[in-house]
Amino acid sequence: MANSEFGYVRNFEQPDALPPSNWIVVRIDGRGFTKLCKKYEFEKPNDRRALDLMNAAAVEVVRSFVDVVLAYGQSDEYSFIFHESTTLFERRAAKLATSIATAFTAEYCMQWPTFFPADQPLARPYPTFDGRCVCYPKRKILRDYLSWRQADCHINNLYNTTFWNMVLKGGMSNTEAEQALKGTVSADKNEILFSRFGINYNNEPLIYRKGTVVYRSYERNSVQNGEGSRIEAAPPTSKTQLEKERKRKQKATVAVEHVDVIGDAFWEAHPYILA
Ligand code: ATP
Ligand code: ATP
Ligand code: MG
Ligand code: MG
Ligand code: MG
Ligand code: MG
Ligand code: MG
Repeated sequence: MANSEFGYVRNFEQPDALPPSNWIVVRIDGRGFTKLCKKYEFEKPNDRRALDLMNAAAVEVVRSFVDVVLAYGQSDEYSFIFHESTTLFERRAAKLATSIATAFTAEYCMQWPTFFPADQPLARPYPTFDGRCVCYPKRKILRDYLSWRQADCHINNLYNTTFWNMVLKGGMSNTEAEQALKGTVSADKNEILFSRFGINYNNEPLIYRKGTVVYRSYERNSVQNGEGSRIEAAPPTSKTQLEKERKRKQKATVAVEHVDVIGDAFWEAHPYILA
């Protein structure tokens, strides 16, 4: 086939290998979820079932792509971080983004009935997710990327929580609530929530305020000998070593947490994640 007279068309393909020694983030985002929320009557501001489904799909993606060191999700998006040294798919951007986005989409659709009632089965148009790759050349910038997504989660959640309380409990129309919130800062929204609705924003569930972090945890098994955290630092070279490393990652527990990733505490507690 490759040697036929038609083979030359292959030369029209564009190379898209991502530069070496960069952390690769594949961010997927639900297509048209504003509409999808209405169709399946998602609870506002946060439908817990939908978030649990996102997280369940992400766990399976992390499990099946062993080069993913951490994933961070909020709303209808998830960011999957590939280790800077990954050679998966020769680091080809389209292969990475489409493989992650389609694996995620398949999990999301197949697991839907586990999280939503039988009288709300999926119907066309089925949920889909787009995906893109972004390279970050330094750990510090990768950390800033994750901080950016988590800050976005916080800002949106504070706004949405205030907005939906004004509408659902405060009897305002959507337009009235939107008008009332124009130009307000965080402190104003906290105050509205507290004085009008008796809600202390800091007591809202962590999953809504912080989003979700998914990562391979080596706390209980291999790290105890003091070696686990260093394995990434000195990359395995031989085939058997690589195979051993892959098996170790496949066996690792996948942790799902709603924690702050902007400060240093999480990273200091899990130094092997970005090792
Ligand atoms: P696009 O295709 O451009 O991504 P979109 O409609 O998906 O369009 P987003 O910016 O991705 O736009 O916004 C996602 C929307 O889905 C937001 O309005 C968000 O509040 C809503 N949403 C996502 N997850 C949940 C959830 N668990 N509960 C309630 N609403 C949610
Ligand atoms: P990659 O992940 O790199 O694409 P691959 O194993 O999918 O790896 P392909 O080059 O895409 O490799 O080849 C697909 C394989 O699946 C071929 O061996 C092809 O013969 C086989 N295949 C695909 N469709 C069918 C089918 N309908 N019946 C039988 N075999 C099939
Ligand atoms: Mg979008
Ligand atoms: Mg979306
Ligand atoms: Mg989104
Ligand atoms: Mg192929
Ligand atoms: Mg194939």
